[in-house]
Amino acid sequence: MEKYLKELRNRHLKKRKEKNPDRPIATWVQDDIFRDKTNGKSITIILRTVGCKYAYDTGGCTMCSYLMDSSPIKITSENIINQFNGVLDKYKEELENNSKNYSIKLFTSGSFLDEFEVPNDAMEHIFKTIGELNVKEVAIESRPEYITNETMELIRKHINNDINVEIGVGIETANEEIRNISIHKGISNKDIEDAITTANKYAVGIKAYLLIKPPFITEKQAMEDSINSANKYIEMGVSRISFCPSSIHKGSLVELLWKKNQYRPPFLWTVIEILKEVKSKNPDKLIMCDTSGIPSNRGAHNKIDCECNYKIKEALGDYTLTQDLSLIENIDCECKTYWAEFMKYEEKNIVPLGDYER
Ligand code: SF4
Ligand SMILES: [Zn+2]
Repeated sequence: MEKYLKELRNRHLKKRKEKNPDRPIATWVQDDIFRDKTNGKSITIILRTVGCKYAYDTGGCTMCSYLMDSSPIKITSENIINQFNGVLDKYKEELENNSKNYSIKLFTSGSFLDEFEVPNDAMEHIFKTIGELNVKEVAIESRPEYITNETMELIRKHINNDINVEIGVGIETANEEIRNISIHKGISNKDIEDAITTANKYAVGIKAYLLIKPPFITEKQAMEDSINSANKYIEMGVSRISFCPSSIHKGSLVELLWKKNQYRPPFLWTVIEILKEVKSKNPDKLIMCDTSGIPSNRGAHNKIDCECNYKIKEALGDYTLTQDLSLIENIDCECKTYWAEFMKYEEKNIVPLGDYER
């Protein structure tokens, strides 16, 4: 499979275009929920880097094409610092006057803590600046192999314990077979346990990204897998769970399956069921849900064109910000019967089904 994934990746990478290396891929401000469950704003910066090394080396994960957003040309420390400083300049006044109302989220198309993407001096500059700004929270994303004593020490050298630091890790599932065969993640459970232990030593939280509906499993299996995975990682001490209902990325293996009608992103009913189960079992924990891609046919959706799709997207966003389960648990629609029938039929069929309405 690795050879196939690498060839697929390389074919698509030829389509990448050079962009201004001093500008981030994207940046925005939104309402957010902090680790202590208070609300505030987050400034998200998607830094332009050369992208995920794992994806270059192995073809990457089956559902991901973040590498397509990465830069085909070298990105220096200076470029990354310019990207970061440029965004901060825009919000300088607000940040200086009201720093504890803000979280800064720094994402790349891979791992922020990998020097291949973010050279050490750029990392150091960014952590130092954030430490001085004294914001409420800082969030980055990384594969677990870069969560080491060295990188955690670098963070805490500049950012004191009053600032909540969290690292989003694409754990995806607690099931190693699903993680490494269906998703081709190349990460063992032991790698994750080690990363959680190391991060916790430095009072750094781990936000567990869990994928709702990896390929090659049925809707029902995906639902059970997400519930089990969340409960397991909550027990292991992650700081929050962030569910990511899958969406179809251009150039990914999942896109090929979807085009052949052998894959469908999850139903929103499945997403709601997972949140209900996990949140009611762990009422004090932060259980969030990403709503990007919903409800297009490339993202999580119920029956296409059913009016409940938009209502549920909004309710999921509100639930994430408030953690109030009542916002999603009483939603109903006629298409719920179709979802139940789909799952029953798919189980009998053994192989995962596509979206026959498409
Ligand atoms: S999901 Fe993360 S680790 Fe996997 S290829 Fe994409 S960026 Fe790399
Ligand atoms: Zn509906």
